[in-house]
Amino acid sequence: MYMKVTYDKDTCTHSANCVNSLPSVFQVKDGNFVIVQDGAPEEKIRETVNSCPSKALKIK
Ligand code: SF4
Repeated sequence: MYMKVTYDKDTCTHSANCVNSLPSVFQVKDGNFVIVQDGAPEEKIRETVNSCPSKALKIK
């Protein structure tokens, strides 16, 4: 099953949870937020998405 993580920059509260808990997927490059969609096992990605405090991250 193909999974895609989406990010809403207007909702994000910059808690940095995601970049700290799963840096292989959630990264800041040149000041831009980048999601490496295949950077970790699906379960790990789901965990981190679910722990985003502002719900800026979603799985499609
Ligand atoms: S965990 Fe959510 S609120 Fe925190 S930086 Fe990531 S996307 Fe933004």
